[in-house]
Amino acid sequence: MSEFWSPAVHELTPYVPGEQPRERLIKLNTNENPYPPAPGVETALREFPADHLRLYPDPESRALREALAREFGVEVEQVFVGNGSDEVLALAFQAFFCHGQPLQMPAITYSFYPVYCQLYGIERQALALDDQWRIDLDAFDGNGSGVIFANPNAPTAHGHSQADIARLLRRVTERVVLVDEAYVDFGGESAIPLVADYPNLLVTGTFSKSRSLAGLRLGYALGSRELIEGLERVKDSFNSYPIDSLASALAIASLEDREHFDACRERIITTRERTRQRLAALGFEVLPSQANFVLVRHPEHDAAQLFVGLRERGILVRHFNTEALRDFLRISIGTDDEMDSLIEVFELLCR
Ligand SMILES: *Cc1c(COP(=O)(O)O)cnc(C)c1O
Repeated sequence: MSEFWSPAVHELTPYVPGEQPRERLIKLNTNENPYPPAPGVETALREFPADHLRLYPDPESRALREALAREFGVEVEQVFVGNGSDEVLALAFQAFFCHGQPLQMPAITYSFYPVYCQLYGIERQALALDDQWRIDLDAFDGNGSGVIFANPNAPTAHGHSQADIARLLRRVTERVVLVDEAYVDFGGESAIPLVADYPNLLVTGTFSKSRSLAGLRLGYALGSRELIEGLERVKDSFNSYPIDSLASALAIASLEDREHFDACRERIITTRERTRQRLAALGFEVLPSQANFVLVRHPEHDAAQLFVGLRERGILVRHFNTEALRDFLRISIGTDDEMDSLIEVFELLCR
């Protein structure tokens, strides 16, 4: 607390990201990708002329937006980029959800959404998941400032089909529906094709997870021209150059290697299913996952104690100390070797 702070700063409860440990641990706590980015990214990094850093980058990030437009089959005016999808989300909250009405979101979802609500003074209407930990899309009626959810959802890992989301969009037409697809490349179904038909649909994505570039900080949004223009108005009132020229060059190199991208995500999906079976054999309840993590609980072992036991043996996972999630651990999918080590420790702890 400080008398120098603006009054509202005293009231903020900032988002707490997963720990980035200093010691060498098997790191399964922040859903990073265990595989390196595409080889072309390293080449582009080595060949990047340092002299380019003398100049400001392109404020419109035209080259990167064109590459994304090609990747997703949309017009360049339908693409927005930001310094991580967290930044894109923050700008979207300001651009679309400040209508003096509550924002509808699942009761359990990405915990940054309530933080942005607080930052912008937006009320939140939290809608219960169904009895299988799935988002109940029918609960969103659009009678608020908008709708936001992650698909697949975090940290529950369930994803809805494109047809389910189309059904929601036929009902909710007056406000923006924001679908956060941070994990869609691990077996989910993207809503991007629906952007052509629904001017109020905004889909966000990130290079952090499926493209192994969490350290680069790059996210994007796809939507109608009017939504993208709204985002640009807020962005240009905040920071003209959120994407540095190096990040842009490396992200374009990543988009050019479809083969590497597919190989990595297929490996993660295979490891996930193998891990699911082995955890189930140890007595864990493992929620079905279309993401690069699994949410698990054990009927006989306390999640907080398991977290500590794993940590003492060099493995870091995520434990959320909230009422709804206290019994669960969220475990990111690493390499097969890393998951073997995890299972070995669980065999010890769950005996
Ligand atoms: C990881 C994550 C993000 C943020 O990704 P960045 O692009 O790294 O900022 C957004 N939404 C969800 C649901 C995530 O899990």
